[in-house]
Amino acid sequence: MKKIHAQAALDCGKPLELYTYERRSLSPHDAYIEITHCGICHSDVHLIDDDWQTSEYPLIPGHEIVGIVKEVGSQVDNIQVGDRVGIGWQCGSCFRCEWCLQGEENLCFQQQATCMSQPGGFADGIVTDARFAFVLPSSLDSQKTAPLFCGGATVFSPLRRFIHTPTQKVGIIGIGGLGHMALQFANAFGCEVTAFSTSREKEKEAKNLGANSFIYSVDSKSMENAHAYFDLLLATAPLNLDWELYLKLLKPKGVLCIVGAFTQDLKIPLFSLLIGRKSVSSSNIASRPEIKEMLELAARHKIGAITELFSLKDVNQAVQKVKENKVRYRAVLSMQR
Ligand code: NAP
Ligand code: ZN
Repeated sequence: MKKIHAQAALDCGKPLELYTYERRSLSPHDAYIEITHCGICHSDVHLIDDDWQTSEYPLIPGHEIVGIVKEVGSQVDNIQVGDRVGIGWQCGSCFRCEWCLQGEENLCFQQQATCMSQPGGFADGIVTDARFAFVLPSSLDSQKTAPLFCGGATVFSPLRRFIHTPTQKVGIIGIGGLGHMALQFANAFGCEVTAFSTSREKEKEAKNLGANSFIYSVDSKSMENAHAYFDLLLATAPLNLDWELYLKLLKPKGVLCIVGAFTQDLKIPLFSLLIGRKSVSSSNIASRPEIKEMLELAARHKIGAITELFSLKDVNQAVQKVKENKVRYRAVLSMQR
């Protein structure tokens, strides 16, 4: 049986180290994919540090995978040997519940994650359910597209759901991995887009990525000037923010959608919603139909991540850089052979 060479955390918060395991044999719906690239999502950092109190070690993170299909199980009919495919956060669902039947597998109660309780993509290969693998449009670059499979999908889905007209004013909070892809998608939807960032030096790049304006969110005067302006705010920072302040920036009927995955409670006074009938929402990854749509849109509008490439053996350096908010804008691991 073929061995897979990975980088794993052997315990909570520990640096990753070389870890070899025997790959599982293929079930009828499985495919074996030789990985070429894997993005580092902040969720991988949450997993390494057990921020969600769900991690099991040894832990092989990685769920923004692009690679080449090398073998397929007997029932696989959506991908073929030789295809270049991407895999995101989700790798399984029941395919029977009302959500799966409606094409919203990301709402299935039996959904499985690519790198929880099973080995993920910080590795030279992966065996995974091919029903959650997607062929990349030929014009898309592997390195720039790997981060679309989790980060891109996670912002595409709520933007697709909450944007109804190009006249809407959309704010993206946190211009990191997810945020810099959200700017590109919101721009492609034709909206007026504002980037909210704690990093002043990101202004120029945010505007190049599709932001019409940039708000340095640490500056209270700039925040005040934006009162009652936005239809939609999409928050991607990995921690709890001053939501009461952001709710003031929404117009009546506006929506604050939080996709950052922290475990602390939200502090939201009811009256900041009641006056103006505002809503707070959240969103998890994207469904398979949405991922397909996202790839088509990305190909048409040339949307992709701005990446910093690291070799798999330098994974700890890359993870540290993500933690320090120094990556511009998504670290991607390359599996040299
Ligand atoms: P990332 O690349 O590290 O970017 C996060 C950005 O948040 C940073 O670049 C920074 O932007 C901002 N930020 C960081 N520290 C901050 C602070 N102290 N105060 C305010 N803003 C701060 O992370 P990511 O990969 O985009 O992931 C973001 C979050 O989304 C994580 O919690 C991740 O787990 C979650 N996530 C959720 C889903 C889902 O399904 N809901 C899917 C994927 C990821 P500025 O420098 O511009 O301020
Ligand atoms: Zn992710």
